[in-house]
Formats: sequence, C-alpha cells, structure tokens
Amino acid sequence: MTTPLVEMDGDEMTRILWQMIKDELILPFVDLKAEYYDLGLEERDKTEDRVTIEAAEATKKYGVAVKCATITPNTARMSEYNLHQMWKSPNGTIRSILDGTVFRTPITIPSIKPAVKSWQKPITIARHAYGDVYKNVEIRAEQAGVAKLVFEGADGQREEVVIHEFKGPGVIQGQHNTDKSISSFAHSCFKFAIDTKQDVWFSTKDTISKKYDARFREIFDEVFEQYKADFERLGLEYFYTLIDDAVARVIRSEGGFIWACKNYDGDVMSDMVSTAFGSLAMMTSVLVSPDGKYEYEAAHGTVTRHYYKHLKGEETSTNSMATIFAWSGALRKRGELDGLPELINFANQLEDACFDTLNEGVVTKDLVNLMQGVTPRAVNSRDFLLEIRKRLEKRLNA
Ligand code: NAP
Ligand code: MG
Repeated sequence: MTTPLVEMDGDEMTRILWQMIKDELILPFVDLKAEYYDLGLEERDKTEDRVTIEAAEATKKYGVAVKCATITPNTARMSEYNLHQMWKSPNGTIRSILDGTVFRTPITIPSIKPAVKSWQKPITIARHAYGDVYKNVEIRAEQAGVAKLVFEGADGQREEVVIHEFKGPGVIQGQHNTDKSISSFAHSCFKFAIDTKQDVWFSTKDTISKKYDARFREIFDEVFEQYKADFERLGLEYFYTLIDDAVARVIRSEGGFIWACKNYDGDVMSDMVSTAFGSLAMMTSVLVSPDGKYEYEAAHGTVTRHYYKHLKGEETSTNSMATIFAWSGALRKRGELDGLPELINFANQLEDACFDTLNEGVVTKDLVNLMQGVTPRAVNSRDFLLEIRKRLEKRLNA
C-alpha cells in the first residue's frame, strides 16, 4: 500500500468482529497502511467527539475510509457509558463533513432468493440525506385562518403565496432543499454509477410538485451533462421517471442498477428493498462525496444483543459479511486509486472466499432459515472467519 486507509473503529459486537477480521483476514495477507481513529463511544466522549471530526477530515485528505458500526447515543446510553453529552450520530457528522450520499447494496448469493422473483442482481438505493420532511417546520392550526408561504430575499425581493384558507382547524408544513445539496447528490450518484458500472434511475413526483421536485429533475439533467460522455463510453444509462412508475419498474426488473431517491422515498424504499433481499446483516453501505471520497461500512448497527451475550461468555454467531465487504471495498478502491493490482486482486479473492464459504453452506445463524438448495451448517462468529480464512489461503496459494 502507498496511501493510508482511514480506519474507524467502533462499538460492541462489531468492534469484536473488527479485531477478528483484521487478525484473521487482513493483517496476515496485506501490508496494511492505515491511519487509525477510535470512534468507540468511550473515545468519542473522552475527546468531546473531536475524533469523529478528525476521522472525517482524514477521509477528505486520503480519499478512502473503512468504518465499524458505532453507537448513536440515546438516554439509555448516557447512563450506560456515563457520557458527558448525548453526542450526535457519527455517521451524521461524517456525512455532513463529506457532503456525501449513502449507497446501500445487498450482498446476494444463489441460495438466498429475493422475495421478488425477477430480481437477479442487487439493487442499490441512493438516498438523498438532506432536507425535505426531515428538516420541516410545522404548525397545528387550532382555528380558521390563512396560511401563507413567504420568501424574503436578501436583496429585498419578496414572494408570497397562500397555502390554504382554513375554515376550521388543520395542519401546515414547510419544507426546503438547496440547489447545492441536490447538486452534490447528483454528482455522487453519477460518480458511483461510473465506478460500479451501473445505470442510474432517478424518480420524483414532478407532475404534482412542479417547482420543488421539478428542480431536482432539472439539476440532475444539468449535472448529468458532465458525465454523459463517460456514461456513453461505458454503455450506461441515466433515466428519470415518476416515483410511481419507478416502483412498478423496480419490481419487474432484474436488478443491477442504482435507484436514486429523494430523502423520504429513500428512507422507505431502502427498508423495503433490503428486507426483500433477505438480511440486514448482508447489506453494505458506502458514503460517496461529490468530489469522489469513499467511506465503506456495514449497513447494520453494533448488534448489541449479541454483544451482551458475548460479555456473559456465551457463544455468538454474528454475521461479519457486511463488515468484511466494507474492508474489501475500501482496499479495492485504494488499489484502484493508487494503481495497485495486487491489492485489488486481494480484495476480489477475499470476497470470493466469503462466497465460497456461504455457497458451501457454512453460515452464521441469521442465514440458516433463509437458505434454499444447500444444507446450512451454522458456526460461531470466530469459526465463520476461520472458515473464510481457510478458503482465502487456498485461493491465494492456487
Ligand atoms: P443492529 O445492531 O443492526 O441489530 C438489530 C438486530 O438485527 C440484531 O439484534 C440482530 O438480530 C440482527 N442483526 C444485525 N446485524 C447482524 C449481524 N451482522 N449478524 C447477525 N444478526 C444481525 O440494530 P440495533 O440493535 O437497532 O442498534 C444497535 C446499535 O447500533 C445502536 O446503538 C445504534 O445506534 C447503532 N447503529 C449504528 C449504525 C451505524 O454505525 N451505521 C447503524 C444502525 C444502528 P437478533 O438479535 O434477532 O439476532
Ligand atoms: Mg428508515
């Protein structure tokens, strides 16, 4: 390796898996060059969350990061960890520093059939993670009256429209988004599409929302001009369609594309698509910034229930696939950026060794009831990694 990978450690069961993955699947095979940031909750509390900001800054500097799942504190965690403050979600902090979009993709295997029969390839959901209903303001009107939308421009320009003349009580909501954020979203989507050689589908409801959603569509069209030549060269397609047409097409499709969604659509559709593909433990996630910085992680959390079992000395069977794929994704990207074919090859072999393991029926408990056509044998967290290591060594020595 020539450039360091930004390594962000995390919490609970995934922190345990993190160390095991490094010990068994990375360090014996790769001369790892990493800049380590401990994003475990204790360290975040100790550094007043500066460590999260430093890790994000390092990602900006080096371009590729791999992150372990982390606890987002709530009231219960305040007392459990004796925290000084209810620190914000690290993912939120990193996302806002990198101004990135999150892409979620299921890891698929032949013996786990998606709920939708036609799906043969993974579907990646890109969710615009800024604004709309998530940054709304609302009023509960208790009586008759007039609701107005008012804009006061910095230069004194004023625009006012009546939302509704209420004859009785009702509800009102104001939403916004910015050209800058929508444009970043579009850049991230097209970059990731070129990177993974997949089409981009984008959907909104611009027949109804003629200014708001229409602006999303316009910005995507404008930004696409910069990527058009690359798309043509790679035989890729960008197309826009209405959200209702998109859902119908997604269900009829074979998969294998990126579905770019507005914030709310992405929130809802990502849960639907991930559940339909099988298991949260098999869902990967990558944050891509508009200037092409990448942060890889698993989509699941720290698997608290398994961690408490582990602390009691009980055996766990936690699925490390998504975390391993975060490592392989990050190493492959580092290899691509630095021109290191051996590193790219290692990342591919590591993923193939994982597939060999699952395809031979060696799995963690969460997958046992999902598998068809092979007789699964459930192993514990560590043995699962050792089984992958065995197959990885075989591949690398072949
Ligand atoms: P979770 O950690 O994803 O786990 C929820 C349940 O899903 C688990 O109890 C387990 O079910 C199953 N599961 C998830 N990942 C699995 C895996 N790799 N192998 C096997 N089973 C798996 O979600 P949570 O319990 O809601 O959240 C726990 C903590 O994670 C919270 O503190 C939250 O803030 C944090 N979190 C972090 C991230 C992130 O860093 N990206 C994302 C989400 C949540 P069974 O118990 O039935 O086996
Ligand atoms: Mg949600």
